[in-house]
Amino acid sequence: MLFPNTDIIDFQNKINESQTITLISHFNPDGDTIGAVSALFHYLKLKNKTLKVLIPNEYPSFLEFVMKDVPHIIGSKQTDDAKLALSETDLIICLDFNSVKRVGDFLQEFLITSTKSKVLIDHHLEPEVENFNLIFSNIQVSSTCELLYEVLLLMENGNSFLNPNISESLYLGICTDTGSFSFSCNHRRTYEVVADLVDNGVDVEYVHQIVFNTYSENRLRLLGFCLSERLKVFPKHRAAFVYLSKNDLRRFNYQIGDCEGVVNFCLSMQGIEFGALVTERADRVRLSFRSKFDFDVNLFARKYWNGGGHKKASGGYSFDKLELVIEQLTTQIETF
Ligand code: 5GP
Ligand code: MN
Repeated sequence: MLFPNTDIIDFQNKINESQTITLISHFNPDGDTIGAVSALFHYLKLKNKTLKVLIPNEYPSFLEFVMKDVPHIIGSKQTDDAKLALSETDLIICLDFNSVKRVGDFLQEFLITSTKSKVLIDHHLEPEVENFNLIFSNIQVSSTCELLYEVLLLMENGNSFLNPNISESLYLGICTDTGSFSFSCNHRRTYEVVADLVDNGVDVEYVHQIVFNTYSENRLRLLGFCLSERLKVFPKHRAAFVYLSKNDLRRFNYQIGDCEGVVNFCLSMQGIEFGALVTERADRVRLSFRSKFDFDVNLFARKYWNGGGHKKASGGYSFDKLELVIEQLTTQIETF
C-alpha cells in the first residue's frame, strides 16, 4: 500500500463533504501539473462537484489540447476570480508542488491564509507539511500524474476510474515529466500505469505530435540561436549552460513554453553532466538546472538560487542582473 488507508478515507471524506472544490497548479505550469489538474477535474466532474481550476499564470500553447475542456482561471489575469476560488470553496487540492511559494508571489498569501482544507498531491522532495491538511507525497514515482493515478485507484478500491479525458491528461504528465520516457522512469510500475492509460483511450502518437512537434518557426530558430550563439561549455568541469537576455527573447518573439527543453540539450553532449538555462525575465532571472548521474541539482538550486525541485531537474531565480548571474554561475561551475 502506497499510503495509509486512513489517508485515503480522509481524502474520500473531504471530497464527499465538499460541494465546491478548487484545483490549483504551480506557477509556470508544465505538462505534469496541467495534466494532473485536468485529470482530477474530469474525475471529480463524474462525482458532480462544482469545480474551480486555478492556474497561477499562462501555460504554453502545447498544453491547450487538454485545457480546452477544462474551464479555468488564469490567476495573473483574473486576480479577483483567483482570490475567490481560494476563499469561496470547500476544499483546495494542490497538484505538483511542495511549497506554497510555487503558486507565485501574488497567490501564495491567499493560499496560506485560506482557512479551507488543503490537500497536496506531489512528487517533490520535502513537502511543506505545515501548510497542508493532508499530503500524498512520493518521490519515487515518475510524476504527479502517476501518483494521482495511484491515489484515485486506491480511492476506487482498485476499480477502474479511467475515461479518455482522464487517461490522456495523466499520460501527458507522465510523458512530459520523464522527457518522453528518458529519465525518472526506471520502475516497472510506470509502464503498468501507462499500459492502463493506453487501454483506456490514450492515443500516444497524437499526444507526442502535439507536445513535441508543434514548434513555431520562431521557436525552432530560437533553439538554433541558443545552441550556436548562447551556449557556454566547461569541458573540464563537465558543465554547460545557455543564457538568454530579454532582447534575445524579443528577437524571436518569445512565447511561453518556447524555452521548454532547451536545457536538456546541454546534457546531450558527451561528458557533460550538469546543464543550466539562464533566462532574463520581466522581474527576475530564471534558472533551470539538469544533471545526469550524481550531481544533485535540487540541493544546488536550494543552496544558491532560491529554488529546488528534484535531484536531476530543478529551478530557481535571482533578482540580480543577467550579467552578474552568468558570472556567479560560471564561478560556481569552476569552483565545484
Ligand atoms: P524547470 O526547469 O522545468 O522549470 O523545472 C524543473 C523542476 O524544478 C520542476 O520539477 C520544478 O518543480 C522545479 N522548479 C523549477 N523552478 C523552481 C523554483 O523556482 N522553486 C522550486 N522550489 N522548484 C522549482
Ligand atoms: Mn512534476
